[in-house]
Amino acid sequence: MKSFTYERAKTPEQAAAAVAGRPGAKYLAGGTNLLDLMKLEIETPTHLVDVQDLKLDQIEKTAEGGLRIGALVTNTALASDMAVRRDYGVLARAIVAGASGQLRNKATTAGNLLQRTRCPYFYDTNMPCNKRRPGTGCAAIGGFSRQLAVIGSSDQCIATYPGDMGVALRLLDAKVETVKADGAKRAIDFADFHRLPGNEPQRDNVLEAGELITAVTLPKPIGGTQLYYKVRDRASYAFALVSVATVIQKDGSGRVAFGGVAHRPWRVEAAESAFPGGARAVTEKVFADARPTEDNRFKLKLAERTLASLMAQARS
Ligand SMILES: Cc1cc2nc3c(=O)[nH]c(=O)nc-3n(C[C@H](O)[C@H](O)[C@H](O)COP(=O)(O)OP(=O)(O)OC[C@H]3O[C@@H](n4cnc5c(N)ncnc54)[C@H](O)[C@@H]3O)c2cc1C
Ligand code: SF4
Repeated sequence: MKSFTYERAKTPEQAAAAVAGRPGAKYLAGGTNLLDLMKLEIETPTHLVDVQDLKLDQIEKTAEGGLRIGALVTNTALASDMAVRRDYGVLARAIVAGASGQLRNKATTAGNLLQRTRCPYFYDTNMPCNKRRPGTGCAAIGGFSRQLAVIGSSDQCIATYPGDMGVALRLLDAKVETVKADGAKRAIDFADFHRLPGNEPQRDNVLEAGELITAVTLPKPIGGTQLYYKVRDRASYAFALVSVATVIQKDGSGRVAFGGVAHRPWRVEAAESAFPGGARAVTEKVFADARPTEDNRFKLKLAERTLASLMAQARS
């Protein structure tokens, strides 16, 4: 691991100023992703600003009838919160489908959103990777791509966003609240938070240098049967080949978002009018522009069948 300096911030504004004012500085939350990447020298921050003392660990009701989830709320606390379990069941289910109990005890809401891809070549520092080292090429294109994206990819990167919680947040129309070094605050629609790789696959999201996530907000509950299912190679401790988050209403209407298929949680709102026609009708629209590889073409059928299974479960 490369050497680095360390400080603990006391306020969000102080944390944002500390990271923005120092090239190579990064935030440290639960550390479950960043420290692994530092040990492999994939991430080489020169300075860590530990945010764990910031008072961002509350889950509160909003005036609009939704929830504000502090950036430091752990995955365990969020998935076990009674309001989340009652009103946003798809979120609780998505969280417990991820990682392990021990990891979820440490992992934070903000850190979870910012976890980096699990593309095997991103981790192999002997291989070219535009996300790890821009301009070096992409070993996954023409390489082993079973886990990788079927839609939204570019000629520079076909990685997927690996998280589970984010798929549910996309479904629920969450927003990400932030503060910048100058104290300016903004609320980013979750749909716009993660980027597609395009020509800059090194940029996973739209955060600016030093911008600190302070909370995630959810609009008021939408009811319905809320389900999440993750298809993976092992029953636990594995990332999604395909995951499906869905809310299905009694009248047959619904919403759906997919994980494991793109560089960001994938939802196409215009396809949701096809819900009464069944899973094939929906996924034909969601994946109309898919560009799978020979290795991962199976994900398209898997996505359709997983959604079909959840639709049947909701009807029963
Ligand atoms: C073995 C293993 C299995 C896993 N399996 C799954 C899985 O199946 N599904 C899944 O979804 N996840 C899985 N994970 C990933 C895990 O969920 C993430 O590591 C965790 O959520 C990251 O949260 P953290 O608080 O530890 O983040 P950290 O590691 O502390 O930080 C991650 C990134 O976020 C940045 N950051 C942290 N807080 C803020 C903030 N407030 N504002 C701006 N930037 C910030 C950091 O600078 C860093 O770049 C797995 C991890 C491991 C190690
Ligand atoms: S798919 Fe993306 S992360 Fe994987 S090797 Fe190519 S550029 Fe790197």
